[in-house]
Amino acid sequence: MRKKLLLGNWKMNKTREETKVFALGSLALSALAELHGIDIGVAPAYLSLPVVKKYNPNLLVASQNVHYQPSGAYTGEISIAMLKEINITWAIIGHSERRTYDNETSERCNLKIKALLANEMTPVYCVGETLAQFEKNETKKVIKEQISAGFSEISSENAAKVVVAYEPVWSIGTGRNASSEIAQDVCSYIRGLLREKYGEVAEQIRILYGGSVKPENIKTYLSTADIDGALVGGASLSIESFKELINNMI
Ligand code: PEP
Repeated sequence: MRKKLLLGNWKMNKTREETKVFALGSLALSALAELHGIDIGVAPAYLSLPVVKKYNPNLLVASQNVHYQPSGAYTGEISIAMLKEINITWAIIGHSERRTYDNETSERCNLKIKALLANEMTPVYCVGETLAQFEKNETKKVIKEQISAGFSEISSENAAKVVVAYEPVWSIGTGRNASSEIAQDVCSYIRGLLREKYGEVAEQIRILYGGSVKPENIKTYLSTADIDGALVGGASLSIESFKELINNMI
């Protein structure tokens, strides 16, 4: 049985002070989520990672990115050792904004996923097609390439530790969420690809949907066979809306 997961992606939002207010406000939510067997967490900006840890140690905390090299001349980047030093063990990899603005390729994501797994950390690997690809009916072709490259040279033991997030680019931050039918169809396709490669292990891999998820639509995704939770941007920023998301997952 796969545990449900709600992960908020804060992108470049919230100062450390605003993060502290949210983290303190989320203490009761962590208890509620635990009671109902749901994992909840957030991915704040780098400077706020230790702030969440300090004020709500029960919230899962993910970095929004990480470099695959242990150290070196990579201006503006962050290393696995730096994250581990402050007890951060999760990282989002290949978010569409990084694929679009930072030329993040699936091959580069694979290097990051392998580096994280080698350090016993959890990657949340984002995949998804652009609007043009969706309109040309190329969704599954794109997803197949992204899954194949992202999971290259990853053992089945390690594959079970990866979380996949299906995020159609046309639905991120647009208010145009994919229908639960479309999302389930693609997530089931992803699980099928993982089953071809890893057999039964695919049943353990958590697959999230992301893209304009709101308290009013989260339930429809969670009631499908292959969607195990959500990666949420805008609606994860206020504590009230985060609480409603959790309540509607229960
Ligand atoms: C995201 O940032 O991954 C995301 C899905 O954003 P939003 O929920 O705002 O569409």
